Amino acid sequence: MRPTGRFHLGNYFGAAKNWVELQNGGDYECFYMVADYHGLTTQPHARDFEDDLFDLAGDILAVGIDPAKSVFYLQSSVPEVAELFLLFSMVTPYGWVQRTPTFKEKARQQPDNVNFGLFAYPVLQAADILLVKGGFVPVGGDQDAHVEMARETARRFNRVYKPIFPEPKSLSTETPRILGTDGRQKMSKSLGNVVGVTDPPEVIRKQVLSMVTDTKRVYKSQPGHPRSCNVDSLYKVFFPNDWQHYWDLCRKAQIGCHEKKQILAERIVETFEPFRERRSDLTRKEIQQVLEAGSRQAREVAVETVREARSAVGLLPPLI
Ligand code: ADP
Repeated sequence: MRPTGRFHLGNYFGAAKNWVELQNGGDYECFYMVADYHGLTTQPHARDFEDDLFDLAGDILAVGIDPAKSVFYLQSSVPEVAELFLLFSMVTPYGWVQRTPTFKEKARQQPDNVNFGLFAYPVLQAADILLVKGGFVPVGGDQDAHVEMARETARRFNRVYKPIFPEPKSLSTETPRILGTDGRQKMSKSLGNVVGVTDPPEVIRKQVLSMVTDTKRVYKSQPGHPRSCNVDSLYKVFFPNDWQHYWDLCRKAQIGCHEKKQILAERIVETFEPFRERRSDLTRKEIQQVLEAGSRQAREVAVETVREARSAVGLLPPLI
């Protein structure tokens, strides 16, 4: 996860919820990280997102990532990823990267800073995944194309050199794409259309009440169109047992959009109360200690993977 803004509903329901379930299921050895190198593709000064980095890491711990069960680390503290990225870049055809849909979208979002890092993002992501020999990647739907590319990269590296990497697959949740409060684009830290997870209740209420609802419904007395309303899609997430009831009320014009948002906001505030509590108990020092210990563990694995990859490529071991 990139440290470039507040942890939001999309990050939680698209990815982090799955992270916690996989960690607790006991079937996988889990590695999760805060992707600060990736953050540089948008903001050139890492200092500018240092607070966000600790906030995000704290939020991830608060929602249930347990450093005793998962390796939770900071990307730039495991710099071996940069070397693997370089080796991968030699077997990645230009055309693969050029076709990545997210690059085109990001380039549109930051037309004054279309840097090479942004272009090469999926190659670095392939290195992130394969550095720890990741077989499954729990991500939101927007990342499927990247994971597919990591798969192609592993396949190609294995064919050109030696079969040392697994072919990773993405693992989605039931909600792989949460829309933002604008109701049009995916919820994203960089788009300012988020509903936070550990934000204070008054902030969450404000964010939810700002959501665009049913644009075809002008008066409360008119029946609503929940099928095309983003608020309804969040009702399915937060009221899995009685969203149908609210759907009917909306169709019969017995509830207004504002009221529906108020009810939703209270439910979100209540659902995330335990996360908020745990988050407020965590100090920056504790978060840093977790990342340090995790980075040490991840680095042990990374050094070994890079050694293997160098040897497969046929490079001499480092002479000094
Ligand atoms: P953002 O787009 O907010 O900057 P990241 O790119 O850091 O988020 O993504 C972190 C994880 O959260 C990824 O696995 C991504 O697929 C997932 N994710 C981000 N936004 C959403 C969303 N709106 N719906 C579902 N999953 C999402």
